[in-house]
Amino acid sequence: MEKIYLMALDQGTTSSRCILFDRQGNICSQVNRQFKQYYPQDGWVEHDATEIWASQMGVAVEAMQKCGASPEEIAAIGITNQRETVVVWDKKTGRPIYNAIVWQCRRTADFCAGLKQSGAEKEIRERTGLLADPYFSATKLAWILDNVPGARTRAENGELLFGTIDCFLIWHLTGGRVHATDPSNAARTLLFNIHTMQWDEELLRLFNIPAAVLPQVKPSSGVFGMSDPTLFGREIPIAGVAGDQQAALFGQCCFEAGDVKNTYGTGGFLLMNTGSQPVASTGGLLTTVGWKIGDKTNYVLEGSVFMCGATIQWLRDGLKLFRHARDTEAMASSVEDTAGVYLVPAFVGLGAPYWDAYARGTIQGLTRAVKPEHIVRAALEAMAYQTVDVLQAMRKDTPFPIGSVKVDGGASANNFLLSFQADVLGLEITRPACVETTALGAAYLAGLGVGFYSDLNEIRASWSAERTFVPQMSNEKREELLRLWHRAVERSLGWAK
Ligand code: ADP
Repeated sequence: MEKIYLMALDQGTTSSRCILFDRQGNICSQVNRQFKQYYPQDGWVEHDATEIWASQMGVAVEAMQKCGASPEEIAAIGITNQRETVVVWDKKTGRPIYNAIVWQCRRTADFCAGLKQSGAEKEIRERTGLLADPYFSATKLAWILDNVPGARTRAENGELLFGTIDCFLIWHLTGGRVHATDPSNAARTLLFNIHTMQWDEELLRLFNIPAAVLPQVKPSSGVFGMSDPTLFGREIPIAGVAGDQQAALFGQCCFEAGDVKNTYGTGGFLLMNTGSQPVASTGGLLTTVGWKIGDKTNYVLEGSVFMCGATIQWLRDGLKLFRHARDTEAMASSVEDTAGVYLVPAFVGLGAPYWDAYARGTIQGLTRAVKPEHIVRAALEAMAYQTVDVLQAMRKDTPFPIGSVKVDGGASANNFLLSFQADVLGLEITRPACVETTALGAAYLAGLGVGFYSDLNEIRASWSAERTFVPQMSNEKREELLRLWHRAVERSLGWAK
């Protein structure tokens, strides 16, 4: 039977999704299922990994039924996932010994503060490209081993396995035969050396992690294993794996050094492909692995913005300024400018490139002439300004000329936002025809891994833009707006100290 589809399993923080793509990257079928979030204590976030596995399998089968796809017609499965989230499970039964500890969970903040104080962060940064922050996996894994009775001894005896979500899904999809992950996920654990591309013994010692629990690290594209025949009725190769942001970069066809994608979701993520060399950042960006294909590794610089679309949610649900997020486009366009208002969305501090946990949100420049439309416009403009700051940091760290920026995520539907972003960046902004770039990236990696696509050029040829936004603002105007934005940011810093 002819291979028609690529199956992307997109395992996100709030939902599990499956999309079946055809060769041209068109969506043939899509099913989404939300799952439960657990908040056992202030600042703690957990998932039930078994529920994740069940929901992911459920949407996969439903997506096949929805478009009448038979397992014979599926060329390969690609997996993309919420990153850094930690699962530890029993090697015999596949049962997790504790809930998955989610990337958002701050329970290991004290441990990380201790690492910073002891001066260990420099070493961590050099080897992993990351920071000593609870966000990443290692301290969460150590927490499980230290807090679940008997876990450490069982781990040392080789009875337990550790993995990020991709790894847990691969293990279950292969009926427990394959314990593996890809470098884009391994690179987020704080245990993986991005220069040697191996688990790092020094770091394993620092975090007190027994090597016996670690998965094998395989290239992001290529066969990881076959799905257990009982699941879909036939074996299907699992042939592409990447963490969500890296998969989106791949799904945007950002294959060359200097290519940038910008995701406007709840938070914002900018990633730049830096080619075959890891670039250490001087401006608060993370250095990480984009993907590995064959023996070739592609590195990236990553800047994350905490509050992006989330600011729009706050204006909608908190201040009740409008009913739907999409209403903001017409509101912002109905006024000439923000009437001098600047909104700095530092609700939970500021991420890249400021990294100020004590910054807090501000709305500045208020006069009696200010209407809700001005505030909405200021919020959208702030989303764009934040991307300017991250891109500026990327420019400082790298020699690559930036041609254009490819956008995706829920808020990239907003035309006002993208045209303002083009103006303040002074760069073309491109929105792709398929905005499900995360799933698409996983499908591309899987397709490449089984030869469904012969090379990157064939993938490029299948990709298309929906709309390009061209900058129209004068340099003077841009500089003036950015000067005032930076003045506003300055005033939000350190507020909660
Ligand atoms: P995530 O995957 O991070 O949950 P999405 O990519 O689904 O997020 O994007 C949802 C976010 O985008 C929400 O915060 C929402 O407020 C915002 N959003 C959605 N549509 C629009 C729009 N047209 N204009 C501005 N913001 C929007």
